[in-house]
Amino acid sequence: MPDVEHVPAPQRVAVIGAGMVGLATAWFLEERGVEVTVLDRTGVAAGASWGNAGWLTPGITTPLPEPAVLRYGLRAVLSPSSPVYVPPRADARLLRFLAGFARHSTPAKWRAAMRAYIPMNRRAFEGFDALAAGGIASVTHEAKSFIAAYRTEAERSVLLDELGHIRAAGQQIEFDVLTGAEARAVEPSLSDRVGAAIRLHGQRFIDPGHYVHALAASVRARGAELVTGADVVTVRDEGAGIRVVTSAGADERYDAVVLATGTWLGDLGRRFGVRTVVQAGRGYSFSVPIEYLPAGPVYFPAQRVACTPLGTRLRVAGMMEFRSAGAPLDRRRVRAIAEAARPLLRGADLDDRADEWVGARPCTPDGLPLIGRTRSSRVFAAGGHGMWGITLGPLTGKLLAEQITTGRQPAELHPFDPLR
Ligand SMILES: Cc1cc2nc3c(=O)[nH]c(=O)nc-3n(C[C@H](O)[C@H](O)[C@H](O)COP(=O)(O)OP(=O)(O)OC[C@H]3O[C@@H](n4cnc5c(N)ncnc54)[C@H](O)[C@@H]3O)c2cc1C
Repeated sequence: MPDVEHVPAPQRVAVIGAGMVGLATAWFLEERGVEVTVLDRTGVAAGASWGNAGWLTPGITTPLPEPAVLRYGLRAVLSPSSPVYVPPRADARLLRFLAGFARHSTPAKWRAAMRAYIPMNRRAFEGFDALAAGGIASVTHEAKSFIAAYRTEAERSVLLDELGHIRAAGQQIEFDVLTGAEARAVEPSLSDRVGAAIRLHGQRFIDPGHYVHALAASVRARGAELVTGADVVTVRDEGAGIRVVTSAGADERYDAVVLATGTWLGDLGRRFGVRTVVQAGRGYSFSVPIEYLPAGPVYFPAQRVACTPLGTRLRVAGMMEFRSAGAPLDRRRVRAIAEAARPLLRGADLDDRADEWVGARPCTPDGLPLIGRTRSSRVFAAGGHGMWGITLGPLTGKLLAEQITTGRQPAELHPFDPLR
């Protein structure tokens, strides 16, 4: 249905944020003939889009608030090394987020949110395939193996139950149930402590930093201006256009603006009616050398540790730290991830760590991203993907570019209304 308030298709659009979501949106806008400027206060992939696990896993892309997370949350308050951390003294914003998150952690809410994800998951690879056809100089790898490994069968039952729910909700996911020995035969990097596993099929992975930089290069090569060091402090709708002002005083007018500022989405979005809290769910990663480089991702769900082969090293990622996005990297978390993975990996030197990194997942209380038009018909939000902004970034960009240039909201985006 045409949007009655829609302004003529914008010709000059500013995208604020050079992460996966912003750059994908810029790329697909260019595809539709729009002149694009990308502004980032730091640089390409300066936020969550660099050191993440790089999984393209629509088969397990599910809402974060779910009953089991609440259990981890309680445990976390008692132990700083557990995989989910909530500071003992939460500020008002974090309390608002946690209260909303708790309200959405029921089976019925999970099912409703899952129904919103499924149409996106079904098309997630389409975004990557379009970028590949458009010549992005970074590949997506088929995960020849994708193993979720556990010490015991009892631990494994949690994911088996979840996979049952995922399938019951209508999401397609193929998997095999393996013994520890069967898992080691597929993935020799697993230690003898692994006693049970699940092998997922049909998923992919990327080197996210490499990929997002390649995407930025393509966006530039197609004519966009990419301005780094541009800290946007004001976005103002002036009727005939949108004014974008940076902290250094640069002041430009555009026909439309996309806010793709990750965990900072609320800062610029609030005045356009985006009231959903976007809370930093901070995660850590580092890379280590390993004797047998896995052929695909290795996941230790009980420890919430995600491993991905990148080049000649293994990236090890984990933690969900609900605290300020700008807080310094906490070495205890890095060590906690290394210690959690140590008994389960074989031939990995977890003390020879490189690229130690912390980044903030943009998490919403209902576990759904914020994609689409705001109160202004010229200002669009694109973010809040939580754990899944890499998997869903390209499709988000593709669908949002369609909405911005045609004025019609693709059906897949209905549940992600930024004004909800
Ligand atoms: C440990 C970890 C593992 C993960 N693993 C996966 C995974 O395997 N698969 C997956 O799909 N997802 C994963 N994620 C989630 C994924 O990384 C994020 O969802 C995604 O990167 C978000 O992308 P984005 O473009 O929205 O935000 P970001 O990448 O954070 O980009 C936002 C950008 O906006 C800029 N910015 C902010 N405010 C301003 C301003 N006022 N002016 C100018 N610029 C501004 C920032 O500098 C930043 O560059 C993981 C995350 C973590 C932390």
